[in-house]
Amino acid sequence: MQSNQAKPFSAYQLREDFPALAQSVNGVPLVYLDSAATSQKPRSVIQSICRYYENDNANVHRGVHALSERATAAYENARGRAAKFFGAEAQEIVFTRGATEGVNLLANTLKKRVLGEGKTILLTEMEHHSNIVPWQMVAQETGAVIRYIPVVPETGMLDEDEAKRLFAGGVAIFSCTHISNTLGTVNPVQSLCAWAREAGAVSIIDAAQSAGHRKVDVREIGCDFLVCSGHKMCGPMGVGVLYGEGSLLQDLPPWQGGGEMISRVTYEGSTWNKAPHKFEAGTPNVEGAIGLHAAMDYLDAVGREEIRLHDALLVREAMGVLSSFPGVRIFGPVDESGEHAGVVSFALPGIHAHDVVTLADSHGIALRGGHHCNQPLMKKLGVPATARASFYFYNTEEDVEALRCSVEKIMRMFSKL
Ligand code: PMP
Repeated sequence: MQSNQAKPFSAYQLREDFPALAQSVNGVPLVYLDSAATSQKPRSVIQSICRYYENDNANVHRGVHALSERATAAYENARGRAAKFFGAEAQEIVFTRGATEGVNLLANTLKKRVLGEGKTILLTEMEHHSNIVPWQMVAQETGAVIRYIPVVPETGMLDEDEAKRLFAGGVAIFSCTHISNTLGTVNPVQSLCAWAREAGAVSIIDAAQSAGHRKVDVREIGCDFLVCSGHKMCGPMGVGVLYGEGSLLQDLPPWQGGGEMISRVTYEGSTWNKAPHKFEAGTPNVEGAIGLHAAMDYLDAVGREEIRLHDALLVREAMGVLSSFPGVRIFGPVDESGEHAGVVSFALPGIHAHDVVTLADSHGIALRGGHHCNQPLMKKLGVPATARASFYFYNTEEDVEALRCSVEKIMRMFSKL
């Protein structure tokens, strides 16, 4: 799959592109079910970064020598590629360190435009801490209040009637995850952004869990801003994308000051560069952008709809397997009424999630256990932690079977079977 031509989808073939998947852990072949935390990287991404350092490494935008021009072109091409990937224009794409930095940038710039005493920031109860804490920080500064669209614990979905009621009460900023990293819930972002627009709110979508798993088109969604992390979509760590609708992005004040984000500097004061450069102070993560470019090429060659379908297939199988054990609780949408993305959180009866993941690791399986940066949601669900298996296009039905065997052994060990 190193070329970018579409081929019939085969998880078994695609796995071959991922060197890290070919290893054994604790004496057994690795079963990697932690892609919601970070995805593995295909060889084409790793090689693009090596190639950059071996041939083109130079600082960008500031030099006229050959290497600097090549590095600049590669960096700006990556911006263009990201724009195409999300259905946007290049000047609407800001490179960040990841989704977390994207939200922090928005919180700290939007606060000057739309927040103030008593203004409402509307979030949901299933947000990752990175889409709660930055808002709490600016709410404290500005006197804004935060409200949350409730999650229905039984279904893992948002209470849409309550959402409409909250929008009707007046909202300045609405920020919401596309896919929950804990519940696997796929939120109806198109409707939510339409309601936000009607309410006169700025809308932000956290696409950390969706950008690498399905088509994400900012115009189709109708959001004003969107953030994501490169490392969850086959790209390197330390790079992410912030999309901002043209005029809204241009209108935001800068966040961090330094080189590159300025138009003119005197000892007395400075004027700003245009977006997106206004938001990229200092030397950017050029290798990250280049790696992310290769990752987006790779994902499009695999096919984003094929990835979505494969995730759904495996997660359905995994839910079937897990629910066949007595007393196992599965979180998030469990029936056809709600789409469940490739993440499944579960609790084995009377066995702590940390014991589950530690024992699974001894069976060669990488799961995640804990609060998944969703502490308030855990409280709402009434559990201290969950175990989470997350799937990607390089996972196979054999991986689901390995999960089943591991859960069976763990249940027997704790005399639950
Ligand atoms: N939002 C969601 C839904 C996530 O799952 C994550 C990562 N777990 C983030 C935001 C934060 O991403 P990052 O740590 O890459 O900034």
